[in-house]
Formats: sequence, C-alpha cells, structure tokens
Amino acid sequence: MSACLLCGSPSATALYRATDRLYRTTQRIFTVVRCGECGLMRLDPLPEPAELVQYYPENYWFAPDPTSAARLEEAYRRLVLRDHARFVGRALRESGVRGPLLDVGCGGGLFLGMMRERGRSVVGLDNSAAAARIAWSRQHVPAVCGDLEHAPLEAGAFAAITMFHVLEHVRDPRAYLSSAHRLLKPGGRLIAQTPDAACWQFRLLGRAWTGLDVPRHLFDFRASDLALLIESCGFQVLRRKHFSWRDNPAGMSSSVAPGLDPMARRTRRVPESSAARIVKDLAHFALAVCALPFTLAEAAAGAGSTIMIEARKP
Ligand SMILES: [Zn+2]
Repeated sequence: MSACLLCGSPSATALYRATDRLYRTTQRIFTVVRCGECGLMRLDPLPEPAELVQYYPENYWFAPDPTSAARLEEAYRRLVLRDHARFVGRALRESGVRGPLLDVGCGGGLFLGMMRERGRSVVGLDNSAAAARIAWSRQHVPAVCGDLEHAPLEAGAFAAITMFHVLEHVRDPRAYLSSAHRLLKPGGRLIAQTPDAACWQFRLLGRAWTGLDVPRHLFDFRASDLALLIESCGFQVLRRKHFSWRDNPAGMSSSVAPGLDPMARRTRRVPESSAARIVKDLAHFALAVCALPFTLAEAAAGAGSTIMIEARKP
C-alpha cells in the first residue's frame, strides 16, 4: 500500500471495491481504503496519470449549446453558482488585497464569467484546452491550459485563488496548494471546495454517495482532513461553509438516481430528444428539491456533503 497523504502512515484497511458508476468510462474495479492512523480515505493504488486521463470523458466540462434545454440548464447553473460567487466576493472584500482572481480547474468558465460581470479581474486555468477555449469564447474569460505547478503565471500576483472540486482529483494535492501559496499575494485568499466524507449522505448511502466518484476522486477528504492539509501547506483557515446550493441537493439526487444526472447523460452521450432531456432534467431537479430538507439539516449539523474553506496566506 502507498503511504497516507496526510500522516504518512502505510497502514490502511479496504472499505469498498467499486467501478465508475457515474460516467462508465471503465469496467475496472478500484479499491477505496481508509488510513489506519488518521482515517483519510483514498484510492489505493492511485491510478497513473496516463491512466487517469481515460476516466475523464472528453465533454466533461459544461458547454452551453443553443437548445432551449441547454439555455435552461445555464440559467439554473448561474442561479446556484451565486452562492460560490458570494463566498468568494466576501473573501476578497475582507482580505483588502487587490489583484486578480485565479480559478484553478475553471472548466467552461461560468463561475469566472459571473465574477467578471461583478467587476473582478479574473484568470482561468484548466487541464483541458477545449475547456479553456470555451471559457474564453463563451464567458470572455482569459484562460490558460495547463496544470498549476507549471502554469506560466507570476508568483505573488493574485488576490485570491479558487479550487472548486480540484484537490480530490489530483495525485499530489500538496503540490497544488504549495503552488497556490506561491502565486498569492501576502494576505491573499485560497478558497477550496471538496466533497466532505464526514457527511450524513455518505453515512446513509455508503458507496452509492456520488461524492466518492470512483475513479476520479483519488482522495475522499472529511472537512477536518481538508483543513489540516491546507494548514500544513502554510495557510491559516478562516471560514468553513458546509452547504452549497449547486452541489449538495443535486449531489444527493444523483446518488439516488445516477441515470438522471445531467452531466452523466451528457458525457455518456445518452441519445434523447429535447423534450426527454427537459423531462429528465426536471426529474433530477425534483429529486434535488426533495433532498433539500435533509441536505440543509446535515449542513446545519456541520456534516454537509461538501465543504468550502477560506484560508489566508500569512
Ligand atoms: Zn493517515
């Protein structure tokens, strides 16, 4: 077994054997283990980089097309992303640091487009050239294709760096956090969001919880694991948020009915008419509405299915 990312311990116990339930990119079986020392969950062994690429469908990011279903989906995405925009806007205001915002793993750039509309200077970074192109052409956001460690970005230039659902996907999260530390100005803010494996949804649904997302999620952090990891890279944790309008209710809907997940249907290229697409989107949305009381309750108890942390570079 590999050593634990957080505590270095080689001892671990196997929890689940699972395959790609959501996007069905492979039939391979993977093992999720829990560290015997600190309890951090991870895939073991970690897939090699060349292998990992195969588990990301080529249309993994969101690219709005001119159909009415897609327009409806973009309007919905904008609505639920306001939550992220508010969290980051407050971090920027309270930091008092001036400078651009960098979003790592920017995908199609919708979040950055919204921040740009709010008067912020923004830069996007994504592994996918196609995603960076969409961010540029659709959201008018300057975007770079590359990984954070080798990106052609100036050290000490950024007021804030956001990483929404990035750290659980990378083989070396510490390298990502250290790079973010180097790129931020003193007093600048890191905002990182991941699923939270300490959530009630995981306790209730076990391996059916979409937060595990085997094999794309290499680490299954609990909020406490993520905070420890961020602090070990030189940051000071300031704020935690356990509820996300975009992620928590819809995530539960996808756990219960993965076949309705809009992104899974798109990435698997499920053939469906425009009407069928709207019906399935609405069914997914209705399930998310039903999940709302539960997801609000777990978040109020500090056990929401995602965790967003604001941390400061001293
Ligand atoms: Zn450990």
